[in-house]
Amino acid sequence: MAKLTILEFPDPRLRKKAVPVETVDDALRALIDDMFETMYDAPGIGLAATQVDVHRRLLVADVSAEKTEPYVLINPEILEKDGQAITEEGCLSVPGYFEEVERAEHIRVRYLDREGNTQEEDMHGLLAVCVQHEIDHLDGKLFVDYLSETKRQRLRKRIEKDRRGNRQPTAAVL
Ligand code: ZN
Repeated sequence: MAKLTILEFPDPRLRKKAVPVETVDDALRALIDDMFETMYDAPGIGLAATQVDVHRRLLVADVSAEKTEPYVLINPEILEKDGQAITEEGCLSVPGYFEEVERAEHIRVRYLDREGNTQEEDMHGLLAVCVQHEIDHLDGKLFVDYLSETKRQRLRKRIEKDRRGNRQPTAAVL
């Protein structure tokens, strides 16, 4: 296993649209293991392949407090969404920045698991929010895209300040 480098906003590679995974094999499972190691170490609760510069439709997540409920979603597809959840989100690719984002509270998602078997599952709450956030990454979209222009300007200033060496430690994230 190896830790991977996480791309950070505004890296243009975060804007690439990921292509579907064609084969679920040992090489892909090795990447999945590395993504989990990277996510847990960060620490974060979700990580999309796009964030480690692999542009294939794959994400990992674990929203449990004990880090005992790992999810692997390959070629995820949201079949249904409803309800409303407003969550203070952060992102491993936008370190130290948190903002409220509104998403669906429930999603029904179809995906391949790490063995390549098709799964369909209803997800609620933080897991649903996390999976929506990570699927956005696969489409080249970041949570900051949901913010108002004023808030985005504040974020840009904050990032410039961080580049001058004032980076705050990161807490949680997707
Ligand atoms: Zn993210």
